[in-house]
Amino acid sequence: MAPIFEKITIIGIGLIGSSIAMATRRAALATYICGCDVGLDIGERVSKLGLVDRFEADPARAVADADLVIMAVPVGAMAHLSAKIVPHMKKGAVLTDTGSTKRSVVRDVSPHVSDCIHWVPSHPLAGTEHSGPEAGVTNLFDGRYWLVLPLVAPEEVVAKFESFVTGLGSVSERMDAEYHDKVTALTSHLPHLIAYTIVSTAVNLEQQLKNDVIRFSASGFRDFTRLASSDPVMWRDVFLNNDLAVLEMLQRFSEDLSYLQRAIRWQEGDKLEKLFHRTREIRRSIIDAGQS
Ligand code: NAP
Repeated sequence: MAPIFEKITIIGIGLIGSSIAMATRRAALATYICGCDVGLDIGERVSKLGLVDRFEADPARAVADADLVIMAVPVGAMAHLSAKIVPHMKKGAVLTDTGSTKRSVVRDVSPHVSDCIHWVPSHPLAGTEHSGPEAGVTNLFDGRYWLVLPLVAPEEVVAKFESFVTGLGSVSERMDAEYHDKVTALTSHLPHLIAYTIVSTAVNLEQQLKNDVIRFSASGFRDFTRLASSDPVMWRDVFLNNDLAVLEMLQRFSEDLSYLQRAIRWQEGDKLEKLFHRTREIRRSIIDAGQS
């Protein structure tokens, strides 16, 4: 594939940033990749891994000649970062982010965006529980949706950015911020919240029981521990910045949980079985959609 952008700059070389660098290289989507991160030893680690052509610790210098700038930092850091970089960006360059919440990122970044650049927020629906530059995987985005928010950017700019994410292996889909936050509150944020809760329930068990829960964790609990080992800073920021949608989904979840609680108490097996049949159907449709 021919390069879509001459020079790109990725700020935040963690799981997502490093995976973008690797997938960009794989498809030769850019001729030059600059990486930037605040982590003390990250520059050394990134250079050792050969993830980028140049590592630059100063974000203002990192973005100066970039045609596309990708902010892959925790959502709580987007406001401060965008205020720092936008004045140094090239005229006509594209600014995007990979943040897991979109209303907060649009609210926090938009006031710092000038007419000289194009702001196209986005979110790849792909990830793992790992973090840091060593966690990057070339095929992380293959076949995964990448949600794009056009806002007020010209159509040709949005389309060009979409060709970039398609080149990374993703399937691009446009969405608005409010709807995005509702969907991800249920598909991603609530499951992580439940995982963090179940694992912390285990942590609070008496010692002997806790040891056995860990020893015999193969059945279900292990999958929750995987989710609950995700980056604490990233997830702190997600819950603080998608609070309304998460609280709404949590309320619905609590009502559904009470329904199950009641069915168990009253030995209403038919209700349980009916519901479990319905949930199995959802699993089948996810597999059919190639998102398993
Ligand atoms: P990560 O592995 O923790 O990497 C984030 C990197 O950004 C870290 O190296 C961090 O350094 C650095 N950083 C933090 N603040 C910075 C700043 N102001 N300037 C420059 N670098 C900064 O996180 P990630 O999983 O790649 O997530 C990155 C973004 O993508 C987040 O917004 C997240 O919500 C989103 N996302 C994550 C996933 C996922 O599954 N992980 C999926 C989709 C989208 P320090 O560690 O030193 O702070």
